[in-house]
Amino acid sequence: MTATPLTAWRLILLSCSLLLVAATTQADERPQPGMVAAAHPLATAAGVEVLEAGGAAIDAAIAIQAVLTLVEPQSSGIGGGAFLLHYDSETADVQAYDGRETAPAAVRADHFLTEDGTPMDFLEAVPGGQSVGVPGSLRMLELVHEQHGELPWRTLFQPAICLAEAGFEVTPRLAEMLRIDLRLDLFEPMAGYFFPDGAPLRAGTRLTNPALAETLTEIANQGADAFYEGAIADDIVATVQAHGGELTREDMADYRAVERAPVCRSIAGYEICGMPLPSSGGMTVLQILSLLEIASAGTEDMSRLTWAHLLLEASRLGFADRNEYLGDAEFVEVPVETLLSERYLTERAALISPTQSMGKAAPGLSEPDSAMSDGKLIKHSTSHFSVLDTQGNAVSMTSSIEMPFGSRLMVDGFLLNNQLTDFRFDPLAADGRLHPNRIQPGKRPLSSMSPMIAFNADKQPRLIIGSPGGTRIIGYVAQRVADVLMQGHDVEAAIRSGSLVNRNGRTEIEADTDAEALVPGLEALGHEIEIDSMTSGLHGIERLPDGDIRGAADPRREGTVGGAQPPSQGE
Ligand code: GLU
Repeated sequence: MTATPLTAWRLILLSCSLLLVAATTQADERPQPGMVAAAHPLATAAGVEVLEAGGAAIDAAIAIQAVLTLVEPQSSGIGGGAFLLHYDSETADVQAYDGRETAPAAVRADHFLTEDGTPMDFLEAVPGGQSVGVPGSLRMLELVHEQHGELPWRTLFQPAICLAEAGFEVTPRLAEMLRIDLRLDLFEPMAGYFFPDGAPLRAGTRLTNPALAETLTEIANQGADAFYEGAIADDIVATVQAHGGELTREDMADYRAVERAPVCRSIAGYEICGMPLPSSGGMTVLQILSLLEIASAGTEDMSRLTWAHLLLEASRLGFADRNEYLGDAEFVEVPVETLLSERYLTERAALISPTQSMGKAAPGLSEPDSAMSDGKLIKHSTSHFSVLDTQGNAVSMTSSIEMPFGSRLMVDGFLLNNQLTDFRFDPLAADGRLHPNRIQPGKRPLSSMSPMIAFNADKQPRLIIGSPGGTRIIGYVAQRVADVLMQGHDVEAAIRSGSLVNRNGRTEIEADTDAEALVPGLEALGHEIEIDSMTSGLHGIERLPDGDIRGAADPRREGTVGGAQPPSQGE
């Protein structure tokens, strides 16, 4: 998809009068068109408006996240966490920012165990205060804005505030999520907001959110402190505690977003960068792509089937390590360097046969343990957006409240996450040792979110991409990065084509897509197949060698791509 005409959406936003003051561009700067790919047309339009007012990629990201909190409340928001990769075109630096939720100081090892010591049922653990981690998105956005922002913080919330007051139309997807989710009427005020007459809101209904408008106004005027230390923090803590959680004012005030070194590897002539731990996304995507590169180098007949098979086998190996070794590296030892070393990956790639599936892969450094707690759950929440600004800076951000509608606790117009359920419920691994992803006070749960940026040899961004999708995120993203960078597909075709995922078990093939044609061939190679619908939400931007930029929004969700004209010089 090339840039979707945004006229209609921008008119809606225009009526909101953004109050953005255009930044002055310097005569020696060379502005170029910018681009936004995000999960809702109003979020894309807000991002484009910010870029056209001279905003930096992070400025647009803040406006996008604020609008998504309102219009895609089931997926992400200020009550959740996020990971962000930032590319600075002036210094060519890539920075990774961690806004992942933390566990409250009072949690104990048996947090997700029942009285008889067995792990709680996952869906029982989601609703209520016990699943809520300290939200991290706003502190993270504030940190990145301090370092890279151009426009004033307070202006960036105006589109969302105005839309929250004026109202927006409930999308078909939001209406459908409300219709199929029977647990939503559990708590007020969420039940009243989404089920005003006892029935779920219908698509096309105009919905206002005055409480969120007020919240965002406080955050716009007072900064993220209003959320972490002011009355909003009081409201969050009171709500979580009233529903069985242990979150305190201290947990909120102590929250820190962290700048980390990204994980990067040179693969197929590109430098590809992703999030480090506590996301498994960057490491596992890089492992998969490296294994694929090594395994495919020795394969003469590179048919589509062989390519898919090698990708899926590489994915088995990546997931075997992910599930065994990864956790928050500030709390547990993770052999990151070994797992990404040339020697180790070459040894692991040798396990891949082009003619026969290996079946279940064992982790590479020890005996296998057991699967992660959320391996099979289908998730329809989380949101990814990609931004390239008119100065060439880039943001790749994946943001989440975890399950659709998070913990189902609504405070001051936004939903609180259930991210603590991304910890492994049983603190012990099958062999009795402590699992790296067990819950601990202050720790961040292991994530699969995989915002990525790949660079050309000249250190220009070549591809900015990411997706929602639970643990399948890793497969969704690895496949598209491989298709664009190693197979020469354009980003739109790569995103449109059917997903092929292997989380070290059955090979999952996206139903009703071109991927189904591969089933007989994969079966003949020994894959056990599961055909399933897969709701990725890939939003990508690519820069072609001639400098042209193209974006793509995942047709499986409701997003759009918007092009931004550079602000005129010296205005
Ligand atoms: N909570 C998940 C993670 O951080 C993301 C959930 C989703 O993509 O739906 O890995």
